Amino acid sequence: MVNYRYLGNSGLKITEITYGNWLTHGSQVENDVATQCVHAALDAGITSFDTADVYANTKAEQVLGDALKGQRRESLEIFTKVYWPTGPGGPNDTGLSRKHVMESINGSLQRLGTDYVDLYQAHRYDVETPLEETMQAFADIVRQGKALYIGVSEWTADQIRAGAALAKELGFQLISSQPQYSMLWRVIEDEVVPASQETGISQIVWSPMAQGVLSGKYVPGKELPAGSRATDDKGGAKMIQRFMHDDVLERVQRLRPVAEELDLSMAQLSVAWVLQNDNVAAALVGASRPEQVAENVKASGVTIPAELLAKIDDVLGDVVERDAGKTLEGMPKTRVA
Ligand code: NDP
Repeated sequence: MVNYRYLGNSGLKITEITYGNWLTHGSQVENDVATQCVHAALDAGITSFDTADVYANTKAEQVLGDALKGQRRESLEIFTKVYWPTGPGGPNDTGLSRKHVMESINGSLQRLGTDYVDLYQAHRYDVETPLEETMQAFADIVRQGKALYIGVSEWTADQIRAGAALAKELGFQLISSQPQYSMLWRVIEDEVVPASQETGISQIVWSPMAQGVLSGKYVPGKELPAGSRATDDKGGAKMIQRFMHDDVLERVQRLRPVAEELDLSMAQLSVAWVLQNDNVAAALVGASRPEQVAENVKASGVTIPAELLAKIDDVLGDVVERDAGKTLEGMPKTRVA
């Protein structure tokens, strides 16, 4: 079974391995397989599920909602997000304006087949909407009971501090930050994590397996495994490119003895690694097949001894990205239409 951790400075407990459906539901993976993956997650003890209105342009929420039908709502923690353009992509179908936030939550609830989400997240920072306007909209959504808690995703340390302060003034709390984090991508460690610790926020981290790369299945010079994300022409192949370089893939292969020493698969090692950081509340793990979910949950509760953590750092060396400036660099400079 999967361990629970508190999400930020709140009373909400979530499974430290949370299932996410980016690029899979409504896109790479057929609906019956998507449903099997969700059921494999439930069978393994995962009760927390992450999606977003933008995934497969709203289809992913629908697929997840359908797959969760019949489950006891109180036993689930459902997270979704708002920011990226959805629907026909009109001028107000995007961003964190009061109009889009208030409308988007209604669409998400309808597709997910629920009266409320447990966590509603700003998927990015919106440079075109005053932060006060966004936070007031979130405060109202919490008061309406449509979302129980509020979080953010890929915000910088300064944005997190400003958002947390405003939320406090408005009588609610930001409790989570959803950044990319893995052995290969550690840009949150120097600034986002300290700002979050200061403000009572924890991380729920995306792509802990670097989209499958840290499972070790992409071997330099060998053919790409059939059906893998690197072969997914609906979007996955493009997204995973940032890690598909021989120097990265070679170093990843050299992690194999570390995984063996712990009696873990490489995939399990990568998920366990992010969970060693105590500001991380959950690893958000994706899957294209139910067997992957069953394998990945075994990372829950694993402790990696300090000498093996050091060995991982030695093996990966300078292919690890640590530049805190990457969060700001990756942020949309104007609202995306
Ligand atoms: P992962 O790094 O966990 O990658 C998951 C993919 O790796 C799977 O779809 C599968 O792809 C492959 N995989 C999984 N398990 C195994 C295994 N045991 N052996 C081999 N391959 C495996 O995370 P994702 O990139 O999918 O992201 C996870 C979640 O994070 C998303 O669903 C979403 O909820 C969230 N997210 C949030 C973002 C944000 O901006 N806030 C951005 C991106 C993601 P395949 O089999 O096709 O190779």
